[in-house]
Amino acid sequence: KPHDLPTRPVLDLPVVDASTSDTIEALLGGTARSVYFLNAHCANVCATDRAYAAALARADAVLPDGIGVELAARSMGSGLTENLNGTDFTPALLQEAARRGLSVFLFGAAPGTAERAADALQARIPDLIVAGTRDGYDGGACEVSAVHAINASGADILLVAMGVPKQELWIDRNLPQLRPRLVLGVGALLDFLAG
Ligand code: UDP
Repeated sequence: KPHDLPTRPVLDLPVVDASTSDTIEALLGGTARSVYFLNAHCANVCATDRAYAAALARADAVLPDGIGVELAARSMGSGLTENLNGTDFTPALLQEAARRGLSVFLFGAAPGTAERAADALQARIPDLIVAGTRDGYDGGACEVSAVHAINASGADILLVAMGVPKQELWIDRNLPQLRPRLVLGVGALLDFLAG
């Protein structure tokens, strides 16, 4: 396992069962690269989309996102230590990343959204280094040039915001070519941050 966090099986996946701070420490200090959030919507997609299920099974870390996963865990014994939902977890991770001088690249959502999300993040985390942004439509159309731009930025952490399952499939395909150490699929987070 690329991280030493405790996990619990949910939908046959080893879902992280740990606090936000322990998870951030393990992800920033360990060898895990691909990080996905699992919620009830993901579970539905997983049931019908084999490529997505395969990408999830290859994840280095699956984080529990929302009440659906919590209820599933409870139905199999006991609840999880913490709900690591992306909306709260990702900014907390970036706060610690900024403290360590690690930079982030924001990839996905409509043109202009990632830039607005970057501004919003830097308002909350003044030391955060945003290495670059790129939209998830024209900017994502050519995967080779997207990967090139991300790598050229020198970013340590990459957020991919293209929705489930597109972002997980993208990360799964491109991870070997990507230079950022940590790559998270974050759904609609950039829209949320951009307001
Ligand atoms: N998106 C994108 N490229 C695409 C399709 C979607 O960048 O080809 C973006 C979309 O603009 C939105 C994000 O993906 O910002 C996720 O949207 P959705 O609400 O579907 O994600 P979920 O949180 O349900 O995974």
